[in-house]
Amino acid sequence: MRFILTKELGRLARWLRILGYDAQYFKEDNLASLIIQAIKEERIILTRNHRIPQARGIRIVVLKKERFKELLQELFQELDLSPEPESMFSRCIICNIELVPIEKEKIKDKVPEYVFKTQEDFVFCPECRRIYWQGTHWGNVQEILKQIGL
Ligand SMILES: [Zn+2]
Repeated sequence: MRFILTKELGRLARWLRILGYDAQYFKEDNLASLIIQAIKEERIILTRNHRIPQARGIRIVVLKKERFKELLQELFQELDLSPEPESMFSRCIICNIELVPIEKEKIKDKVPEYVFKTQEDFVFCPECRRIYWQGTHWGNVQEILKQIGL
């Protein structure tokens, strides 16, 4: 399941990426090109905007909850989704691109010393070259998922 999110849902887009979903973030106001991209790439539109015209072949989910945890819950219920642990932390939060494992030796000078000493597994984004490791960047995702019953 792939998504495209309108500009007011930037935080949700990052969260979906953390959970491993392909989530494009659409920052423009041009609704026509939003719809074209959704159709072309077979993406579900996630938005707070009630005025997006329904077009054949696309699904639009209008989210209403204000508080972030409730918003996540609303989305997962609406789509009957349950996040899969094995896909979590597999995608760059910024670029929406799948992360690639990288040997520890290669990133020695690119991460803080304590991280290098305490972590074994590193992945990086082929697009922006950011390096990720367990425990950072992703924050307390699992904790929040637990809190909202996912
Ligand atoms: Zn990236």
